Amino acid sequence: MSFSSVLITGANRGIGLELVKQLANSADPPTHIFATSRQPDKAKVLNELASKSSNIHVIECDVKNEESIYHLVSTVSSQVGCNGLNLIINNAAIAYKHTLATVNVQDLIENYHVNAVAPLMITKQLLPLLKTSAENGHKTLVVNISSTLGSISKYRKICVGDYQYTYRASKAALNMITRCLWVELKPIKISVVSICPGWVQTDMGSPDADLTPEQSVTGLLKTIENLSEEDGGKFFTFDGKPNPW
Ligand code: NDP
Repeated sequence: MSFSSVLITGANRGIGLELVKQLANSADPPTHIFATSRQPDKAKVLNELASKSSNIHVIECDVKNEESIYHLVSTVSSQVGCNGLNLIINNAAIAYKHTLATVNVQDLIENYHVNAVAPLMITKQLLPLLKTSAENGHKTLVVNISSTLGSISKYRKICVGDYQYTYRASKAALNMITRCLWVELKPIKISVVSICPGWVQTDMGSPDADLTPEQSVTGLLKTIENLSEEDGGKFFTFDGKPNPW
C-alpha cells in the first residue's frame, strides 16, 4: 500500500472491519491503521486483529459526537506526528428505511448526520494532518464510501423505494460534499472521491447481496491504490469504473 497511515470509521463490522483485515494482512501494510468503533469493548474481532498487529489502533468514536471526533483527532495526531495522515476512509453509515408515509424529522436528521455531516466534520477536523501529509509529498486522499443508491441519474434503474428520503438522499448529499471538498482541497494536493462498495453481504447489505466483504474490499483497495490526481472529485464503483452522479 502506498499509504503509511489510514483512518477507517465504523471498523468493528462489515466493510470497515474487512478493510482493516486486508490492510493489516497486505504485503506492505500501513504503519498506522486507525480503526474506529462506537463501542470498542464490544468489537471482539477488531480487538483480536489489533492484538496480533501492533499497527492497528482501535479508537472509540461516535461520528455524530463532536467531542468524540476531537478525541479521535488528538489520538491520531499523537501517533502520526509530523508525518501527517495519508488516507481517511469515511465508511460508517446507517440506513433507515422509510416511505413518505412513515418518514420523520428525527430519523432524517440522524441519517444525514451519520452519512453526510459526519464525513465532512471528520475531514474538517483532520485537515491539518492531511495538509501535513500532502506537504510532505505523500499521496493524500479522502474516500467517502457512498452508494449507487445515492445516484440521481441511476434512480429509475435501481428502485428501492423505502430507502429513498433517508439513505438515498444522505448519500446524494455525501456525493455533493465529495465534489465540494475536492474543489477546495485540490489546490493543496488533497484528493477526494466517492466510491460505492457494491451490494455486499453485511448487516446493511443482507446475506443475499452480490458480493462478499472480501470481494468488495479487494476491489475497493485496488481502486484506491490506483487512483491518480485526475480521478479526484469523481464517483467510482468498487472495481474502479466510473459511477454516474
Ligand atoms: P454495516 O451496517 O455492516 O456497518 C456499519 C458500520 O458503521 C458499523 O461499524 C457501525 O457501528 C458504524 N456506525 C453506524 N453509526 C455510527 C456512528 N454514529 N458512529 C460511528 N460508527 C457508526 O454496514 P456496511 O459495512 O455494509 O457499510 C459500510 C459502508 O458501505 C456504508 O457507508 C454503507 O452506506 C456503504 N454501502 C454498503 C452497501 C452494502 O451493500 N453493504 C451498499 C452500498 C454502500 P456499530 O456497530 O456501532 O453500529
